[in-house]
Amino acid sequence: MATNLVQPLDQSLAQLYCPMCAANGTPDVPLVREMHIVKCAFGHQYSSVSEAVARGAKMVPLPLNEQPPITSIKWPVWVHPKVKELLESRYRGRLIATLDSVLGSLADGNVLILTGKDVEKLKKRGLSNGSQIVAAFDAMDNADKERQEMQSKLERYESIFREAGIGG
Ligand SMILES: [Zn+2]
Repeated sequence: MATNLVQPLDQSLAQLYCPMCAANGTPDVPLVREMHIVKCAFGHQYSSVSEAVARGAKMVPLPLNEQPPITSIKWPVWVHPKVKELLESRYRGRLIATLDSVLGSLADGNVLILTGKDVEKLKKRGLSNGSQIVAAFDAMDNADKERQEMQSKLERYESIFREAGIGG
């Protein structure tokens, strides 16, 4: 279920802080888009967002005031404080929506949980979500089917050759 941010992101803000201002000791001056360039209130200009990033611009953190869907209830749960801290920083501004979707999957029982080393191995093979894993197995099935078709074709030819008195 989608949640809402109280403040919609201002499209003119580049969501970056001016790196030149930061170098001068004022790290929180926002950059604003103006046509194709971005600039700060003190006249520093960058030809693009990527130039500002290349010059060390830091991201403006997303707002923390995510609002729950009106159909949801609040439920206190037991969790290690470090886990809470990591979740809050990793899913900043979308924690309620993320937990809602994870808990929903756990509740309907149709869920596979992969962790640690297994996830690492899958990611090394370029698989980072369920649909990629399913696609990989489908490709394997297809390869297997093709191999079987080849094999039976080969056997057919062999028997034709045998009947014709050629080869084995
Ligand atoms: Zn500046």
